[in-house]
Amino acid sequence: MAKNFSKMPERIAGLGEMAYNLWWSWNPAARMLFKSLDRQVWKECVHNPVKMLREIPSEILESAANNSQYLKQYDEAMTEFNRYMGINNCWFTENIAGSVCLPVAYFSAEYGLHHSLPFYAGGLGFLAGDHIKECSDLGIPLVAIGFMYPEGYFRQKIRIDGWQESVDETLDRDVTPITRALDKQGEQLVVKVPFTDPPIHIALWKVHVGRVTLYLMDTDVEINVPWHRSISSQLYVGDIEHRLLQELVLGIGGSEVLRAVGIDDYLLHLNEGHTSFALLERVRTRINKGMSYDDAVQNTRKTSIFTTHTPVPAGIDVFPFHLMDKYFSSYYSHFGLSRDSFFRLGLHPENPTAGFNMAVLALNLTAYHNGVSKKHGEVSRQMWNSLWPDKKVDDVPIDYITNGVHVPTWLEPKMELLFNKYLGPDWKQHHDSPDLWKAVEDIPNQDLWQVYSWTKTKLVNAVRELARKEWVEERADPLKVISGGTLLDPLALTIGFARRFATYKRSFLIFSDLERLKRLLNNRWRPVQIIFAGKAHPADDEGKRILQKVFNKVCDPAMGGHIAFIENYNEQLAQYLVHGVDVWLNNPVPPMEASGTSGMKASLNGVPQLSILDGWWLEGYNGKNGWAFKESGSDTGDAESIYRLLENDVVPLYYNQDQDGVPQEWVRLMKESIKSSGAAFSARRMVKEYALKYYRPALKEVSS
Ligand SMILES: *Cc1c(COP(=O)(O)O)cnc(C)c1O
Repeated sequence: MAKNFSKMPERIAGLGEMAYNLWWSWNPAARMLFKSLDRQVWKECVHNPVKMLREIPSEILESAANNSQYLKQYDEAMTEFNRYMGINNCWFTENIAGSVCLPVAYFSAEYGLHHSLPFYAGGLGFLAGDHIKECSDLGIPLVAIGFMYPEGYFRQKIRIDGWQESVDETLDRDVTPITRALDKQGEQLVVKVPFTDPPIHIALWKVHVGRVTLYLMDTDVEINVPWHRSISSQLYVGDIEHRLLQELVLGIGGSEVLRAVGIDDYLLHLNEGHTSFALLERVRTRINKGMSYDDAVQNTRKTSIFTTHTPVPAGIDVFPFHLMDKYFSSYYSHFGLSRDSFFRLGLHPENPTAGFNMAVLALNLTAYHNGVSKKHGEVSRQMWNSLWPDKKVDDVPIDYITNGVHVPTWLEPKMELLFNKYLGPDWKQHHDSPDLWKAVEDIPNQDLWQVYSWTKTKLVNAVRELARKEWVEERADPLKVISGGTLLDPLALTIGFARRFATYKRSFLIFSDLERLKRLLNNRWRPVQIIFAGKAHPADDEGKRILQKVFNKVCDPAMGGHIAFIENYNEQLAQYLVHGVDVWLNNPVPPMEASGTSGMKASLNGVPQLSILDGWWLEGYNGKNGWAFKESGSDTGDAESIYRLLENDVVPLYYNQDQDGVPQEWVRLMKESIKSSGAAFSARRMVKEYALKYYRPALKEVSS
């Protein structure tokens, strides 16, 4: 895609470059630059600057280029952008790298960066997106590798009977912030995955994420055989052979991509087991350079990091041997290995006949591996003990680094202004310092509540607007207009429940006792309402059945119109929800939630948690920042805990408002939420831990 927008006046031409760097999305001054061009167009283009600059009438651009107030704003934002892009004495060089500075190559099957880039299904993707944004902020030299998925994930449509339908949407590359990666001749880079017959070609695209480049692979190129063209069409395909091909392209093709863009040596950080084949390629390259197999394996291990997110064996890809034979039989000879010794790299000792296990491969070929919360570290050590049969469970070398969220991305802009005022103007520079957040106490309750109420109104308006649009433009069934949230009340206590409809997340739990729930919802003076959102995986019929059950309850008049289901959960909707609901509800089956991050986003914005003790909440809960309950061992028991907390604590506290309508005690809780998560559950804290614990020693290994 050409970056030059035909009608852009020279004076504000920098907007074009900025539109293609997601830096704008986490910098309020840059966001305002687009928004203030024309609020209506900004809204119609769903906050996508590339689309906006393509569609905006040229007179608007001309008039901005001649408006001194706009130009002042423009010059300030551009100066900041150029400063940001130009700094090189960053935290990383100063504290970690010293003179050796190899980039980190980060591999992930999905990235959640912005809703205009539909390359994610859920938490794993946002973790990756937040990780690379934070690496950019900290000046960590990182290149990211992933897929473009021209058909994205899918657009969710709920039928009137509650069944989820997937509408495939083809990515419109002209209005997406991606550009072709070019070779020296100015042609799009196309790389070939080695050792496949017929060869698989990958066209390369890129996304600028601040100072980080994310390379996106796309196999939909004409020279590929048809079956290969669709390898990267969609995220998480069901067919096992298709999946193997995807992972082959991701790991092995991804390594080839790095070579093609001139990156020969790097640390390797693998986000989940889909990416593990990259390790094989790393070993092979080292053998090619003359190392023995054993040395190549040792060197690979000491320079590679594997982050696992899965607390259950069923969540890991295991490929049948006949498929491994089909695609790898010409590959393992390069290792000087027999078929059996090659396959041993991926054999689970407890179940060696099951196939080739991608997590086992990653654990075997990395020296640094971690779970994503303290609890998940424990669970992982247990789960993988058999790989270290001579070690006691506590000594299994799997550590943890608790997830965090990219604060500038997830903080509500008006809340940010409040923080600027009370935490000091440069608070963002050191937002992972716990002391900084004590100053949240200085925010007058009235002010915090006012900003918060405004945000909540914004959420309710946004929800109604979506329902209105469906009603007007699609002639939606009236039931859909109601289930979409038109009856929501901006003053009622609002519970948010938004995440993938995976069975273990138990979206239906709150409906366990309908009479009790109805009493909560339909209370005349102290009403409660719930907003649901989330997609079930298209191949997960059980997930879809749960979604259908939830939807049918939403449509039941007995619930009083106090529950809404918002279709097509995505990044934008997540922003509205984590900023604007009053309570974030979380009730997975422990210990299935390795960490969870949406609660962290809510907490940062002053939304207290009502959560089972699992994942990050085991570390996050401090008795003052929300509510926690222990698992009871049954759904009814856990639901009972939720009802009891709502009836006795949450509802009374929320509605205990003074004559100005401010619930003073509730605002205290909001402040505790912010204080307890702003530093501790920030991506900055998380990425610094990765850098100190893993990137630093791995770099030492490279330089020695
Ligand atoms: C943060 C986020 C998630 C992660 O949700 P969890 O269930 O808390 O891990 C999923 N989807 C979207 C759109 C998000 O923004």
